[in-house]
Amino acid sequence: GQARIGLIGLGTMGAALASNIAEKGFDIAVFNRTTQVTRDFAAGAGDLGTKITPTESLEELVAAIATPRAIILMVPAGQAVDDQIYALRPLLDAEDLIIDCGNALFSDTDRRVHDNRGPFLGVGVSGGEEGARHGPSIMGGGAQEHWDRVADIMTAISAKHEDDPCAALMGPGGAGHFVKMVHNGIEYADMQMIAEVYGILRDGHGMAPEAIGDVFAAWDAGPLQSYLIEISGKVAKAQDVATGEPLLSVIVDAAGQKGTGRWTAIESQHRLAPVPAIEAAVVARNLSARREERTEGERIFGPAPQALDGLSHDTLERALIAGKVICYAQGFEMLSAAMRDFGWDLPMARIAQIWRQGCIIRSSMLDDMSSALADAPGTNLMFTDHFAAIMRDNHQALREVVAQAALNGHPLPALSSGLAYFDAMRTARGTANMVQGQRDFFGLHGFEHVNGKTGQHGPWAG
Ligand code: NDP
Repeated sequence: GQARIGLIGLGTMGAALASNIAEKGFDIAVFNRTTQVTRDFAAGAGDLGTKITPTESLEELVAAIATPRAIILMVPAGQAVDDQIYALRPLLDAEDLIIDCGNALFSDTDRRVHDNRGPFLGVGVSGGEEGARHGPSIMGGGAQEHWDRVADIMTAISAKHEDDPCAALMGPGGAGHFVKMVHNGIEYADMQMIAEVYGILRDGHGMAPEAIGDVFAAWDAGPLQSYLIEISGKVAKAQDVATGEPLLSVIVDAAGQKGTGRWTAIESQHRLAPVPAIEAAVVARNLSARREERTEGERIFGPAPQALDGLSHDTLERALIAGKVICYAQGFEMLSAAMRDFGWDLPMARIAQIWRQGCIIRSSMLDDMSSALADAPGTNLMFTDHFAAIMRDNHQALREVVAQAALNGHPLPALSSGLAYFDAMRTARGTANMVQGQRDFFGLHGFEHVNGKTGQHGPWAG
């Protein structure tokens, strides 16, 4: 019979996703630009081979799929996706569905969904190769009727939290890729905060990587339980294959990025959504690349990080708990801003649920986040009953860590901006009255008077 679905792009993610789809019992036809890759994939498919139809041209691919067709694209985001759609559409029927499962910029997906050249879904897939192969978290975007055509496949291949599939339609247009983008922004901030605490343990406490790994492993059994804490412990305990040195000692301290965190930071500005911990994490990666300048700075000013004995592991754990709540609060606030601006009805509590397994930011805290967001929709996560209690219990620890770190020269960009966010968000009377006064003084921009009148001016107005 004909394949239930097609897939183009047998790279890391595409090959894993195709195998996952076949393993769940769906016949799948596959195509790759470089034919040898397709042949190698089919040859290596083993038992799954009976479910997989390798094809060597787009025409052959299209002919191998049952109508109305559904075809997944797993090629690099950007021009490659447009090129592939352009090449494919003339071969397709009007109702055939194209599904971009790559990391597209949500506004590109929005455009592709609305270009009226045929049904289109933009689906965010999180979890790396391992997730794609054995169960990713799946964030769909597009029309419900189009999602419904492949919902059984998306559900089947997704990660499961107990029995609950980590796959859902987020909303129309680019909503799925928007949620995936914010997921990655939270991921950046969470990773950065963990790295900052690692820095205190390393430079402030003088701990060896192995011992730091033990600390993270212990935290992974508590409220911080999460994939990122787990792998941070494993990274800290790992040894370099070439030298036998602790792995962390041989990794250059310059972080790479593929740009989704940057997208989150840029988009947050358009949405007027404050996500300073995410921005700080992106900045930290950019700054980490400036190795020569940092070395020069150390030469000029002397090494900064000083021994730092006053902070217990318990205080550091608590600071990280508060920081983590703040990261997620900012991410969810950005989703709320997108709902308002784009008229989406993002399923906030469900988003927390589909992030519980499969994706990089999976963590046990997401269960409580889902309940909190269900009970108090539209409320900043930090203000929901459950997380307000957590913040009350832990913000003092975050404060101690940030203060001690500052006094002793440890840079904590994400944790300190997270603390500033918390403090700003619990200050009813802030200082923007001064900014408004300044703006009115030099530009007669006007201010809102506390009596409610807008467009008011200071005595300098003529
Ligand atoms: P790879 O580089 O491993 O694979 C890219 C695939 O796309 C190859 O099959 C390649 O074919 C094909 N391709 C590249 N350029 C074109 C083009 N112009 N036209 C047609 N086909 C093309 O990438 P990944 O699998 O890692 O990533 C794919 C998508 O998934 C990206 O959007 C990525 O951001 C996203 N993603 C990746 C994750 C990861 O952990 N790697 C996690 C989540 C999402 P050929 O063999 O001919 O080169």
